[in-house]
Amino acid sequence: MIKNLWFLRGLRKGIRTEKFPEENPVEIALWSTELIGEGNVECPVDAIVDGQWNFEKCIFCRKCTPSFAPKGNINIFRVRNNEPAFRKSFHLFPFDSGACGACNAELHNIASPQYDMTRFGIFFTNTPRHADAIVIMGVWTQGMKKALDLALDAMPGPKLVIALGSCASTGGIMGKGALENEKYDVIIGGCPPNPYTILSALEKARGD
Ligand code: SF4
Ligand code: SF4
Repeated sequence: MIKNLWFLRGLRKGIRTEKFPEENPVEIALWSTELIGEGNVECPVDAIVDGQWNFEKCIFCRKCTPSFAPKGNINIFRVRNNEPAFRKSFHLFPFDSGACGACNAELHNIASPQYDMTRFGIFFTNTPRHADAIVIMGVWTQGMKKALDLALDAMPGPKLVIALGSCASTGGIMGKGALENEKYDVIIGGCPPNPYTILSALEKARGD
């Protein structure tokens, strides 16, 4: 029954791919954007120190509200190294080192008709041998260490290593980052990151 309702809704609305980034995002999840505020507040992951907010650590628990609040800036990412060779086609190999599933879901979302990553020339690949970038989600876990090392070794150069979400970059609230922070070429903030942030970061990762 529910499936039928979704089907009818789809027929009524049609498939609408957003015009982002030429136009503003249609439906942004505010609580996955930059937090702005002041003062030292209690933060379970020390994402606010001396009044400075650190997107790599924030898990968006909202404990700092109302001193800090989201204002809608989706550009919460860091690009240490970009690779213009990937401007025309950019193949991503998703890797779950110990994620809760939400980063995975948001990464999957960028392939949906609403965001349609293929219009940017971005694709998923299921083998690191065909990957331009590995997108790592989740904290460091012993069980996935060997698989991660093998995947990184199997990728041809040039290549980019991307952290998606606070777990992969800093360990979030659960542990330590999947790799040492300085090993990432790109760090995408959020817990989980929203699709607009992911697409914007991927664009910058190839020098656009
Ligand atoms: S939302 Fe939570 S994790 Fe993020 S800065 Fe505020 S208190 Fe820290
Ligand atoms: S960063 Fe947040 S959403 Fe992503 S895996 Fe960690 S806990 Fe889950």
